[in-house]
Amino acid sequence: MKKHFSIAIDGPGGAGKSTLAKAVAKKLNILHVDTGAIYRTIGYAAFSRGLDAKDESQIAPLLKEIQIDMAFDENSGQKMLLDGKDVSTEIRLPEISMYASNVSALPCVRAYLLEMQRDIARKRSVIMDGRDIGTVVLPDADLKIYLTASAEERARRRCLELSERGTPKAYEEVLREINERDYQDMHRDIAPLREAADAVRLDTSKLSFEESEQALLSLIQEKLK
Ligand code: C5P
Repeated sequence: MKKHFSIAIDGPGGAGKSTLAKAVAKKLNILHVDTGAIYRTIGYAAFSRGLDAKDESQIAPLLKEIQIDMAFDENSGQKMLLDGKDVSTEIRLPEISMYASNVSALPCVRAYLLEMQRDIARKRSVIMDGRDIGTVVLPDADLKIYLTASAEERARRRCLELSERGTPKAYEEVLREINERDYQDMHRDIAPLREAADAVRLDTSKLSFEESEQALLSLIQEKLK
């Protein structure tokens, strides 16, 4: 396998990008970077200060005030620190998803995070997941995957996850939220979610986690051997 390489995984929310990327990174002993978590951290900062996440005149000054750090732990994975405080759990609250999507459409936020993400990939071999990794952040990635699943299947998986957590939600509501966020992420002006021309599409709608992981590993091994 190549010594230094980068793998970009993009796709809509709930397709399993981060869970799969984390598992594969462990097997390959490389770094996994969940870039959605960084947008979520900014979304959370806006939420906790009661700011309008769509208003650039409120979010641009916020970026100057806050300090965002990432810590990578071999076992627990990526932790997000906001002003030194671990907010990895808080950023997963369902209400933060739309805040993250809203701030992520702002030019000041995308510019702020671009170098941070590129810098990580320059230093280490990575598997980085998000919405614009193959198209904008790492256009020269060694392998680009567009990981997707139908909105209905993503909603079904999300409902299962929420029930297991003891916070069930109606399927119709989850599906509506998924469609709303997909639409917003795919139709924004800068770095919208789209499949890179040279990406390999992997649809996991009918695959189990193990099958998806195997498919991903095979693609990586084939490409990077
Ligand atoms: O991946 P996750 O669902 O945690 O991402 C939260 C939000 O962050 C997405 O809905 C998207 O709007 C934004 N995002 C982005 N670009 C990325 C990763 C995430 O715009 N590379």
